Amino acid sequence: MRRTFVKALACAAALLAGGSALAQGKGLVAVSMPTKSSSRWIADGDNMVRSLKEKGYSADLQYAEDDIPNQLAQIENMLNKRPKVLVIAAIDGTTLSDVLQKAADRGVKVIAYDRLIRGTKNVDYYATFDNFQVGVLQANSIVDKLGLKQGKGPFNIELFGGSPDDNNAFFFYNGAMSVLKPYIDGGKLVVRSKQMGMDKIGTLRWDGAVAQARMDNLLSAYYGKEKLHAVLSPYDGLSIGILSSLKGVGYCSSQQPCPVVSGQDAEIPSVKSILRGEQYSTVFKDTRQLASVTVAMIDALLSGQQPTVNDTKTYNNGAKVVPSYLLKPISVDASNWKAALVDSGYYKEAQLK
Ligand code: BGC
Repeated sequence: MRRTFVKALACAAALLAGGSALAQGKGLVAVSMPTKSSSRWIADGDNMVRSLKEKGYSADLQYAEDDIPNQLAQIENMLNKRPKVLVIAAIDGTTLSDVLQKAADRGVKVIAYDRLIRGTKNVDYYATFDNFQVGVLQANSIVDKLGLKQGKGPFNIELFGGSPDDNNAFFFYNGAMSVLKPYIDGGKLVVRSKQMGMDKIGTLRWDGAVAQARMDNLLSAYYGKEKLHAVLSPYDGLSIGILSSLKGVGYCSSQQPCPVVSGQDAEIPSVKSILRGEQYSTVFKDTRQLASVTVAMIDALLSGQQPTVNDTKTYNNGAKVVPSYLLKPISVDASNWKAALVDSGYYKEAQLK
């Protein structure tokens, strides 16, 4: 009797083990993310792990805290666990060539996640959003709010860029300038500092404190008497720093409204700021969609099919044009935050209050 019971137990345990082996049976996928200091990347990591598990993969997720050698070491370490695919959101898109050569030598496929990996042939696919369009949306929200299309102006604007080691930063800036430059050339938008171009306006590592310090300097050097009406900001973390600086000299008060400040990622502090009437807009990129496109690519790659892409021209990384899937970003402001962020199930309304 006892023996039968023990046998039954062993059988059940074996079944359970077999079941979980089946669930994880499609192999290991390694996911390298840049930082936990911004909530968007935490959502990306969580969504990737969830989507991978749903499809029967196991996941090794690591965050590099914006430290390039750390990311390199993590990827080396992940490779030693023999993953089937490596998914990387790079800190610096140009620093990974050696480790990706190792991946290629071991037959590990590589997907660039959100940020392009540059200067190597050893990147197979790229899953991202339409990054040029992100910049267009940021600039359009400024143009619309200022009434530039109705001929209003001139207005003063200052420009902020993302991290110069992130290929996306150039796409955001170029997209935004495709909209803003005609107004700047026509004198309806004035950059009093004359600081334009990614070499002058970039913000290393997307650091909000760096943007805040630059805004402090711009305000004291160029806006003693003149007022600032708009700030192009490419990322919510920068927008929050920029707004702190502005508030420090009296903007965002009953005497002096906030300039029109853009953003990106629909991070909670920025959505709250929009609801308080401070930050004007952000760009929502649904990380659930990005994870699911990436996992679909992985599934196709590992079953010998061609992953679905919708762009084979735009993303030349210096060594090849990387076949890409571009998702649609959405402009969000006080008029549509609920539909975009709550009705879509991305946030609960209580998180934003
Ligand atoms: C991403 C943006 C993000 C920025 C800072 C970029 O590569 O595309 O969504 O705002 O990095 O994390």
